[in-house]
Amino acid sequence: MDFKQYITIVEDYPKEGIRFKDITTLMQDGPAYKAAIQELGKYAADLDADVIVGPEARGFVVGCPLAVEMEKGFVPVRKAGKLPREVLSVDYGLEYGKDSLTIHKDSITKGQKVLITDDLLATGGTIEATIKMVEELGGVVVGIAFLIELSYLNGRDRLANYNTFSLMTY
Ligand code: 5GP
Repeated sequence: MDFKQYITIVEDYPKEGIRFKDITTLMQDGPAYKAAIQELGKYAADLDADVIVGPEARGFVVGCPLAVEMEKGFVPVRKAGKLPREVLSVDYGLEYGKDSLTIHKDSITKGQKVLITDDLLATGGTIEATIKMVEELGGVVVGIAFLIELSYLNGRDRLANYNTFSLMTY
């Protein structure tokens, strides 16, 4: 399937000069959305992950259906102030902005094999922060899966030590 036909490129969003890859048009198409998740499932099949971790909000869009399909748990990574229990927090830089991410401290156990998911790899800042939190909790990152990779931003360089997959590359 040509998944790129379901992605809408939005010029100058959220800032001038950025060509935003809108995945909502993929999500709106049932068979295409399912097929995309199944492709990530094929990548994940050999990784033997115990749990899936994804950053809000679009990491949930990818990670939750994949977790259900694989019968694995899903652990949310969220912006500061959103998780109700004790959290580990990490500051990070975005393609456009700065923020901090949090994860429940008891969500990953030592030695657990973790598959990280997000919709899109840009500079890699979001995933780098997510990896940092998972590893600080004792998790082992066995794979990282994206729907989209923006290769011109070289985010993959920051993930060189990890097993990484992206369904589409721009
Ligand atoms: P990074 O941290 O790799 O620089 O940026 C990736 C994060 O920003 C992802 O969580 C992603 O949801 C969001 N993001 C950045 N650019 C885009 C884009 O063009 N399309 C979408 N859907 N998300 C983006």
